[in-house]
Amino acid sequence: MSKTVENYHRIRALIPHHVMLLAVSKNHGVEKIQELYAEGQRDFGENKVQELLEKAEQLPKDIRWHLIGHLQRNKVRALLPVVSLIHSLDSERLFDELLKEAIRMDLQISVLVQVRIAAEETKFGMPAADVLPFIQSLFPKAKGRLKLKGLMGMGSFVTDSKQIHAEFSMLQQLFQRVKATPGYEDIQILSMGMSQDWPLAVELGSTCVRIGSDIFGMR
Ligand SMILES: *Cc1c(COP(=O)(O)O)cnc(C)c1O
Repeated sequence: MSKTVENYHRIRALIPHHVMLLAVSKNHGVEKIQELYAEGQRDFGENKVQELLEKAEQLPKDIRWHLIGHLQRNKVRALLPVVSLIHSLDSERLFDELLKEAIRMDLQISVLVQVRIAAEETKFGMPAADVLPFIQSLFPKAKGRLKLKGLMGMGSFVTDSKQIHAEFSMLQQLFQRVKATPGYEDIQILSMGMSQDWPLAVELGSTCVRIGSDIFGMR
């Protein structure tokens, strides 16, 4: 058994069944993806559109590709026919572009709103305070073309678990508030937790952990 497959089974066994394991394959070759595919894994995450498209072309069509990195508007058109879930919706301009292209291509696109929960300065993700107004003002006009499936967030890159605990709790509470909003009761996905912090994320209600280096090794 390869190291990748061994890591995969070890982590899969630790994660509760109701939590989706998203294998983050960025910067790793298609051979490693194929190894996990042979073990039954179907959900893979990439952070760059070009890399996602190149891999998707070479791999089985029943793989569900997740875009977890920042999405530029000029990449939307190429991405939509291939992507299964976009984790990184974080602006009205991107929303408008996604909607326009989804209508043009007659597609229904599933998205998560990315929330900025880390204390660190980062460009990506929406401030938590903007999330409910954003959802309430924009999604009704998408008329099912853009389907809100939940929220995504990245904790700070720190070893202080108290801080990460506070960030994940905040995201979990926001998720519950979205779920309590009429029309959004059935959102299911709280995408939080990576190699360094997924056990805490699961404890705090994550339904989707995005794990790269703990499966595929260091890049
Ligand atoms: C790279 C990445 C991950 C996986 O990170 P690891 O530390 O390798 O598990 C998860 N989420 C996002 C958004 C990423 O860019």
